[in-house]
Amino acid sequence: MNEQRIDKLVIVGGGTAGWMCAALIGRMSGRSLAIELVESDTIGTVGVGEATIPPIQVFNDLAGVDEQAFLRDTRATIKLAIEFQNWGAIGDQYLHGFGFIGRQAGPIPFHHIYLKGLAEGVAGAISDYSLNNLAALDDRFNRLDKIEGTPLPGLVYAYHFDAGLYAQFLRKMSEARGVVRREGRIQEVLVEPESGDVTTLKMEDGGEVSGDFFIDCSGFNSLVFNETLGVGFDDWSEWLLCNRALAVPSSSEPESLRPYTQSIAHDAGWQWRIPLQHRTGNGHVFSDEFMSEDEAASVLLGNLEGEPLKDPLSIPFTPGCRKKLWHKNCISLGLASGFIEPLESTSIHLIQMGITNLLKVFPTKGNNAAREREYNRRMRFEYEAIRDFIILHYHQTAREDTPFWKHVRHMAVPDTLRDKMACFEESGHLFRVDEELFTEVGWLQVMLGQGLQPKQYNPLADTLSSDDVDEYLRNLRTILNTTVAKLQPYPEFIKSISA
Ligand SMILES: Cc1cc2nc3c(=O)[nH]c(=O)nc-3n(C[C@H](O)[C@H](O)[C@H](O)COP(=O)(O)OP(=O)(O)OC[C@H]3O[C@@H](n4cnc5c(N)ncnc54)[C@H](O)[C@@H]3O)c2cc1C
Repeated sequence: MNEQRIDKLVIVGGGTAGWMCAALIGRMSGRSLAIELVESDTIGTVGVGEATIPPIQVFNDLAGVDEQAFLRDTRATIKLAIEFQNWGAIGDQYLHGFGFIGRQAGPIPFHHIYLKGLAEGVAGAISDYSLNNLAALDDRFNRLDKIEGTPLPGLVYAYHFDAGLYAQFLRKMSEARGVVRREGRIQEVLVEPESGDVTTLKMEDGGEVSGDFFIDCSGFNSLVFNETLGVGFDDWSEWLLCNRALAVPSSSEPESLRPYTQSIAHDAGWQWRIPLQHRTGNGHVFSDEFMSEDEAASVLLGNLEGEPLKDPLSIPFTPGCRKKLWHKNCISLGLASGFIEPLESTSIHLIQMGITNLLKVFPTKGNNAAREREYNRRMRFEYEAIRDFIILHYHQTAREDTPFWKHVRHMAVPDTLRDKMACFEESGHLFRVDEELFTEVGWLQVMLGQGLQPKQYNPLADTLSSDDVDEYLRNLRTILNTTVAKLQPYPEFIKSISA
């Protein structure tokens, strides 16, 4: 028994971040910790955030989520990949699919064999060797762990869901596990003068909520970290120019749902299309220095596939991250901790990482200084690695057709990204630092898709003859295409959710 155990955790805010936190910590602590979550119905939530990446399945499993109930109640759909249009050049298209690509031959990573195949004119597009991408383009899906009769893994998927319904879903679970919800507006956050620790939330109705440790999930308001503790913010606008989003849902036909997100580059940003069971989520992320809001709205509304169901909602933001994500007796999660635009659907994942990293170094009442440092190191690393990956999409482009694209193409990028790009260009070598989120396969697809072609491949690939490479790639394609042909048509899978 740990005598220094904290007795009460307070979660400040009840958006996706707040309820994810309540659901997982509530389950893990098994009622040994009192948890109170404060949220304000009048303030509401940001109301966007619908596309995810595969680790969300790990989160849902840990939180005890039943997948079928989750799919039904959050009107969720399956996401196998993201399709990028007009990014490397106008008219270009490529997919960043989850899961594996190809199959490693001994010590040589698959992509070197592929690059040799390309140089010798026997390889197709990199997508041809990805089960996820082939299934996505053929509109097929069923759960498949492994390709039968081979050592190859099956499909790897994430979800699109209605973020508001996901928060409600997690709320129901959390309250059943003893999490207390308090509705009302927080007027002030009180701090103990000597230690600087947060002690109490003073509510507008005169009530108070006290606790030992606080998790700031108050969205862009950042009530605890910004307003109370004054933790600084690293602004990444020099690399990530987009600073505003317009979001609008539109009608959709259930038969025409795609099992992937679409990201379409425009003149000063890009547009998302996220297909849910009952509607499509759309948004235009853009830089208001390069495009007016009226123009951005007309680009968005002119590119909807269905009818708009509301007026577009305008959301300004500053890309970047708090200098510290654990400070005093508080951590910040979600939009309160920072924001990188949703191009690769990483914000909900960062919430997940924040919670799981906190669970690893869970605070006690005594000295938490070393745990605080470790948490800050890890979370800053996660943020910065994702930042670099997003910048790659803008910087590695042949587009010069507008001032926005000219700017991002020629801007200086962080050294960490520059090194990765240079290494791939020079030798075809890809590297992943310290289990950063995106794997070599993710970097590979985006680098090639954006038009970064390596000058050479690993010379070890030359131990295979041209005929070997040709046969190897052909066999792989045959296996993948045969597997895809046996998958269920995607509309049937969608129907099975509500059946
Ligand atoms: C344009 C856009 C698109 C996005 N798309 C994606 C995506 O596709 N995928 C993805 O992973 N992420 C996406 N995100 C990020 C995602 O929306 C957020 O990470 C996620 O919703 C978490 O938000 P949050 O809970 O931090 O904040 P919010 O949803 O804003 O919740 C804040 C909470 O704090 C409460 N609160 C605030 N102030 C007070 C107060 N004074 N008193 C009481 N309560 C208060 C509010 O009531 C609310 O409950 C997107 C974000 C934006 C801006």
